[in-house]
Amino acid sequence: MSKIDRQEILDVLDGYDKEDTTIATLGSHSSLHMFQGAKTEGFRTAVVCEKGREVPYKRFNVADEYIMVDKFSDIVNDEVQDELRELNSIVFPHGSFVAYAGLDNIETIFNVPMFGNRDILRWEAERDLERKLMTESGVRIPKKITDPSKIDGTVMVKFPGARGGRGYFVANSTEEFDQKIEAMLERKWIEDEDIKEAHIEEYVLGCNYCIHYFFSGLKDEVELLGIDSRYESTIDGLTRVPAKDQLDIGADPSYVITGNHPVVMRESLLPQVFDIGDKITEGAKGLVPPGFNGPFCMQTLVNDDLEVVVFEMSARSDGGTNTFMNGSAYSYLYYGEPLSMGRRMALEIKKGIEENRLEEIIT
Ligand code: AMP
Repeated sequence: MSKIDRQEILDVLDGYDKEDTTIATLGSHSSLHMFQGAKTEGFRTAVVCEKGREVPYKRFNVADEYIMVDKFSDIVNDEVQDELRELNSIVFPHGSFVAYAGLDNIETIFNVPMFGNRDILRWEAERDLERKLMTESGVRIPKKITDPSKIDGTVMVKFPGARGGRGYFVANSTEEFDQKIEAMLERKWIEDEDIKEAHIEEYVLGCNYCIHYFFSGLKDEVELLGIDSRYESTIDGLTRVPAKDQLDIGADPSYVITGNHPVVMRESLLPQVFDIGDKITEGAKGLVPPGFNGPFCMQTLVNDDLEVVVFEMSARSDGGTNTFMNGSAYSYLYYGEPLSMGRRMALEIKKGIEENRLEEIIT
């Protein structure tokens, strides 16, 4: 199936009554602050919601319209798309939207204007593309080990797809790699065909910072809006077990994200943070035009040499943005009032409408 023609999206946008724009997204992931932010900036909001999942939107009263579906993936159905277009909707993408709508569908059949660059979503999903973007942009990433036989230090082993770190493991030798693969198979956390897809990289010993950037296409500038750190099961639970008992438990740590907490970085690290943001947005302009547009997140580990090492990225609003629904230390510095990622997105749309430049930030 061929990719959606840009002109088709621009034609839809052309038919919209911009004074009556709706901000829409799937009711999940990081939608609460998107709706709240959109309402604060004067937009109508529409939630596409799986039956039984409407409670938070009702209780927090952030949605004006409810488009109820049997399952989240129905967001790409013709009737739902029609409803969205009738409401003059601009869709804000987030992790669940991409997962349920499906990348192929977003690229080929989802004919509703979206904020951001829909082509860049694939660069997050495919590890080789992601590494290409980071390497060519000059961002420091963990060293890749090309074959299990070449393991000569501590490594992190990962498998394809965002599965919340399930099945990831640490190994110190080829033998340990083989043993742990067996254990993961037994646990049914991976399957035989995953083995050849195992991605092995340098283990970065350090603290976790997930940096939430916003690239303004209208200003041609990247902003630092917030930073979070992850609570991951079981690794964070294991650190609460005394060392002598950790061995008795015999649990291999897993990295399933269960929550996030807001953090700030040492101020002296911020030049690196801006440098990473500038480099990756410049690199993306050439590789996936027009590059980043709107929210994205660089997931990093900071080692004791104070190097910020990027191990993963989100090319859309990341779940960690939920840590600053009422603003972060950094977003406050720009705006002097509580500003969430969702509200920053809504502000960009508002400015795009006012300046008649919406087509520059919509795909
Ligand atoms: P990911 O699914 O890539 O977001 O990774 C899940 C978790 O694994 C991260 O939050 C980190 O705690 C850990 N992790 C990922 N890559 C590395 C690495 N190269 N070195 C050390 N820890 C890592």
